[in-house]
Amino acid sequence: MSDAREGGCYCGQVRYQVTGPAKAFGACHCRECQYISGGGPNYFQLYEAASLSFVRGMPKAFQRADLDKPRVREFCPDCGTHLLTRLPDSTHLVIKVGTLDDPATAGTVGFAIFCDDAQPFHQFPEGVPRFPKRPPQA
Ligand SMILES: [Zn+2]
Ligand SMILES: [Zn+2]
Repeated sequence: MSDAREGGCYCGQVRYQVTGPAKAFGACHCRECQYISGGGPNYFQLYEAASLSFVRGMPKAFQRADLDKPRVREFCPDCGTHLLTRLPDSTHLVIKVGTLDDPATAGTVGFAIFCDDAQPFHQFPEGVPRFPKRPPQA
């Protein structure tokens, strides 16, 4: 069964498609994500990296030079919307749920990660497991 989802950046220059199902839907509270999210957690889904294709435009990629095995963050070169993150040593990539055309289809958050970095004003849905760093085996 094909479960294709489309998304893109704020200005519309970069458009992508991913096919699911999403492996996970989580909230990342890490300090790095706070820069990109606007201060809150970053809501993300994991998809098979091979299932991603760009329908229009191409993102620019950024990775920190000072980190060992940095993640690659891809964003629109015009409006700067952060669309996705590629993970070293993983066959999955991270899609930012806010860039889906219909984020409501993402369902409900299954877990929260990097809660050690959470700000006092962050909120956690009731009953959702919280991990201080990464979840086990992800
Ligand atoms: Zn854009
Ligand atoms: Zn994060």
